[in-house]
Amino acid sequence: MTEIPEDHPRYESLLTRHRIEEGVEKGITSRQGLIAQGRGEAFDYLLGERTTESADAAERAAAAYLLLAEHPVLSINGNVAALCPGELVELANVVGADLEVNLFNRTDERMRAIADHLREHGASEVKGLSADGRIPGLSHERAKVDADGIGDADVVLVPLEDGDRAEALAAMGKVELVVDLNPMSRSAQTATVPIIDNIVRAVPNVTRHARELRGKSREELEAIVAVFEAKAALEAAEEAIRSGT
Ligand code: ATP
Ligand code: MG
Repeated sequence: MTEIPEDHPRYESLLTRHRIEEGVEKGITSRQGLIAQGRGEAFDYLLGERTTESADAAERAAAAYLLLAEHPVLSINGNVAALCPGELVELANVVGADLEVNLFNRTDERMRAIADHLREHGASEVKGLSADGRIPGLSHERAKVDADGIGDADVVLVPLEDGDRAEALAAMGKVELVVDLNPMSRSAQTATVPIIDNIVRAVPNVTRHARELRGKSREELEAIVAVFEAKAALEAAEEAIRSGT
């Protein structure tokens, strides 16, 4: 690895890019994942590479939803697995969620490489490999999920999900927590909770909120969820991008 000097003004961004490159080399991330990363970087740049106040509120609402859930599942794709595997395992532990590998370009090889990668980062069980459930309304390959994973989940965290699949999951009545840097993407638009933030900042912050909220009553958690407004969160993100503040 070429050493990135820590005092480089865009250190975090370069580190993130390097992790995606490594993911491709290891067979975890698809080459199309590089393009998704580029789109994400552009939006992150416009947002000031920070967690905005409204994104923080969305992350808190997401934590409350995960704690209230009967069966929460964190959906993992190739970009996310390369960027923050350990952080996702930690979040799953804190809120009692399952981890499920869920790929747009599904190949058995990549499914297994990602599951192994997550286990190396501390995951005990990784779902997604049995693929015995279907998301209605999608073509065969793209519809595959585990019947006892995403198929059975009431709350799903879907980072960087394709718009079409995000819509299909929402149509199944699931509470969808979407992490996506583009507030105009269809995935963000269909989310119950759109989190307009970089996944590398979002996941640890959801975990931090979950730790803090763990001791609260159901009523208190429900109150946090009730005041959250998806539309306002999307508007605040778009405003931050347009005005640069
Ligand atoms: P649509 O949702 O409108 O159908 P899409 O999902 O097909 O668009 P892609 O380029 O496949 O578009 O998706 C990549 C999405 O992931 C982009 O919206 C991009 O901003 C977002 N993204 C990429 N990297 C990150 C990241 N590190 N954290 C959060 N979001 C990211
Ligand atoms: Mg999208």
